[in-house]
Amino acid sequence: MEPIPYGRQHITQDDIDAVVATLQSDFLTQGPKVAEFEQSFANYVGAKYAVAVSNGTAALHLCAMALGVNEKSRVITTPITFVASANCVRYCGGTIEFVDIDPTTALLDINKVRALLESKPKGYYTGIIPVDFAGNTVNLEEFRKLADEYGLWIIEDACHAPGGYFIDSNGEKQLCGNSNYADLAIFSFHPVKHIATGEGGMITTNDEALYQKLLLYRTHGITRDPQLLEENHGPWYMEMQELGYNYRIPDMLCALGISQLQRADAGLARRRGIAKVYDEAFAYVDGIEILQTATEALQEDSETGHAYHLYVIKVADRKGLYDFLRTHNIFAQVHYIPAHTMPYYRDLGFKKGDYPEAELYYSQCLSLPMYPSLTAEEQEFVIEKVKEFVK
Ligand SMILES: *Cc1c(COP(=O)(O)O)cnc(C)c1O
Repeated sequence: MEPIPYGRQHITQDDIDAVVATLQSDFLTQGPKVAEFEQSFANYVGAKYAVAVSNGTAALHLCAMALGVNEKSRVITTPITFVASANCVRYCGGTIEFVDIDPTTALLDINKVRALLESKPKGYYTGIIPVDFAGNTVNLEEFRKLADEYGLWIIEDACHAPGGYFIDSNGEKQLCGNSNYADLAIFSFHPVKHIATGEGGMITTNDEALYQKLLLYRTHGITRDPQLLEENHGPWYMEMQELGYNYRIPDMLCALGISQLQRADAGLARRRGIAKVYDEAFAYVDGIEILQTATEALQEDSETGHAYHLYVIKVADRKGLYDFLRTHNIFAQVHYIPAHTMPYYRDLGFKKGDYPEAELYYSQCLSLPMYPSLTAEEQEFVIEKVKEFVK
């Protein structure tokens, strides 16, 4: 059998044709495909504005800049995430404060966030970056209430959850990235994510002022908009008004993104189908624990807002299972090594033991293969090998 990774991209002939057509067009970058991708992505997640950028990390960095993160800022995030969720605050000189996870979901624990906020005077913390870890969606309505009490902004790191949603207190579906509750949301189009462009990222928001800042920061802080210029010397004239970056994404990649986005719903449905098969296979197996939210899919006709970027199980001998699966060409993965235990964050004063739930979770977690092109046969093989090991 071919090696089975934990995640992989799915590229069709339509995707290839879309990229080739752009290669043959007048624009390799800064052409019409950028705005088209932004528009279709904004529609997909239900946000007013979208800004396409070179990758998800650049998206986070621009968000932190647009929200004015600086040396005085103190920002809360989860240790169970890709390090970029925290790094973006450091890029702007701000301080990161991790808060432990809820062990049943591995999401940032809102009660612990509240306790931390209560322990300091109002105004001490600046913002929160919740992460829709594994595709499981954070209840941003609750986070918004808390954030408003303490005057905080919210960046939703929705890299794992395009198409995911939670149900708010009015019974309404709130799609990840729609920015009804968060100030800004970000996505990545790295090949393991739902929509792949190789490298790529997106910011969504409903706030026009933030949107304008993001456009400026994405391209060196330069504007040509006659309404924004301080002077005007003629048609060539532009102004660099802020210190921005080159975080642009090429047209070819946006063409690929547009094409991929057309299959996003089908991919998501397939991910949920795969999750259900895993749920049914592992639900009553001793020695395997499924993250709580995943088991919801077991209930009759239950709809789930989980976007299943990852399918995570917890086992006592994680290293043993990881190694055993590798001998069978199954490349499961570990998400994540808690960010606060990274040498860089340890140098800033964090240490092992600071966030016990995150560390316990890390010692047991394993992400099983989860991607739309995983075949039923391959999944059966994975299930068989996992069960064989834990027996
Ligand atoms: C992938 C990812 C990022 C970073 O995205 P890149 O496009 O790789 O820079 C940030 N946060 C999370 C949660 C991610 O999974």
